[in-house]
Amino acid sequence: MRDGYPEVAFAGRSNVGKSSLLNRLLGRGALARVGATPGRTQSVNYFRVNRRFYFVDLPGYGYARAGRQARQAWAGLIDAYLRHAAPRLAVVLLVDGKVGATAADVEAHGYLSGLGLRLVVAATKMDQLTRGRWQPGLARIRQVLDAATDTPIIPFSAQTGEGARELWREIEAHVTAGASGKD
Ligand code: GDP
Repeated sequence: MRDGYPEVAFAGRSNVGKSSLLNRLLGRGALARVGATPGRTQSVNYFRVNRRFYFVDLPGYGYARAGRQARQAWAGLIDAYLRHAAPRLAVVLLVDGKVGATAADVEAHGYLSGLGLRLVVAATKMDQLTRGRWQPGLARIRQVLDAATDTPIIPFSAQTGEGARELWREIEAHVTAGASGKD
């Protein structure tokens, strides 16, 4: 969509920890607003990274009081963008590691996985789970989303930095692959 550079988009319901994850990945406090106002960010925001690719911050979806209409509006807003960018796009879908995959997450995952782009799931706020609950929690997210076996589910914590390196590895692999869609 922009200059033909690869793009990595981040999607998740509001309050899932997307701003915190972006700030942790990029190591800057001022990049994305961190806050808890549901549905506040309604536009698609681009961040140029290392002159090589873009991070794309997609608006949050499916927050507590949002109904079907709001989710459809979310889909409508980004559908054109995603379809256009899909050949060079990876999407990181954020799911709250403690809450697990919600119905809205399942809906978003189903929609995204139909677009033929590279999909990575990040389970956020993992510091809120004891280590012993990580593996079953991640397995449950995979099961509820019905994620493909080649879709990585990466445990992440913006608070501890857990998973940042692994997520960067996935992003680098996508960018290095020349962003030829599913790599
Ligand atoms: P966004 O709406 O998806 O951008 O979510 P935010 O990044 O604003 O985070 C929403 C809330 O979750 C805030 O109160 C954050 O402090 C909290 N949060 C985000 N990431 C983490 C995390 O890794 N661990 C914990 N314990 N809390 C987090």
